[in-house]
Amino acid sequence: MRISSILQDDKVRLSCEVFPPKKFDGIAQVCQVTREIAALKPAYMSVTYGAAGSTPGHTLAVAKAVQESGVTPLCHLTCVQSTKEHVTQVLSDMKAAGMENVLALRGDLPASGEPCRDFAYASELVEFIHTQGDFDVGAACYPEGHPECESRIKDLEHLKRKVDAGVDFLTTQMFFDNGILYNFLYRCLRAGIDVPVCAGIMPICDPRQVKRAVQLSGSIMPPRFAAIADRFAHDPEAMAQAGIAYATEQIIDLVANGITNIHLYTMNKPWIARKIVENLSSIIHMG
Ligand code: FAD
Repeated sequence: MRISSILQDDKVRLSCEVFPPKKFDGIAQVCQVTREIAALKPAYMSVTYGAAGSTPGHTLAVAKAVQESGVTPLCHLTCVQSTKEHVTQVLSDMKAAGMENVLALRGDLPASGEPCRDFAYASELVEFIHTQGDFDVGAACYPEGHPECESRIKDLEHLKRKVDAGVDFLTTQMFFDNGILYNFLYRCLRAGIDVPVCAGIMPICDPRQVKRAVQLSGSIMPPRFAAIADRFAHDPEAMAQAGIAYATEQIIDLVANGITNIHLYTMNKPWIARKIVENLSSIIHMG
């Protein structure tokens, strides 16, 4: 099913994300985890693309497990370290496997400073995907601004250009303060960006994740969450409980304020997805 048609009405829905293994021999285990999350019947499930585009076959293998579980898959695809020829091949494999939805990403710049190949920005990939088949195309957005961009105003101009290149829906980077999302959505509307935006929520359940999540996303850690992390970081079970509770509250506030599409960064942990779904059983109807 196409994600743009799933996102058409005002129903409150939850989607989930999984990531493929780095090594081929981890695929069976990730597919098992994927099936467990799929059993919760999310609206769709996205499968990330290995850093530097190293393992496209793994993304597709996991996306097929999503599809076989009766859930719509969304395949991520990065371009910055790739060529048009390679991207054409990956899209052709996706099409042959019946994939209809792609999340078009630039990917992180190589640390070596190696020059980009055929694509400099995700907007170029968005345009290219549309020349290769009839896919629904999603893209990433950053409520706090992309860390490389000099200002949030410029970043929004770039986002508008990307959406105009043919984006059907957006997924946000994780954020821990809902006020930042509300401000971003207001600025999007003023900039004429009116595609559906899925709000990315990352339940932080592992003390080691706290610093890493902030570093990776450039997100601001609100004092309320920083206090939780300080208090419970040395007690994994307490941190997991507090992280789930924080994410649950964040989602309740989002839904109460009219946000209908929640994307859960489940980090290949079915129990996290299960707990959140249980907590929200009368708020978000799965299936
Ligand atoms: P772009 O939209 O190209 O933006 C990158 C930077 O370039 C921004 O600073 C933007 O402001 C700037 N820019 C854009 N256009 C122009 C222009 N015309 N002129 C000048 N500057 C411009 N990474 C992976 O490796 N695999 C994944 O599966 C993956 N999934 C992700 C999913 C989500 C929802 C998110 C939010 C991120 C994901 N990432 C993934 C990380 C992502 O690849 C990085 O954040 C990357 O640095 C930027 O990707 P982008 O597609 O947002 O890039």
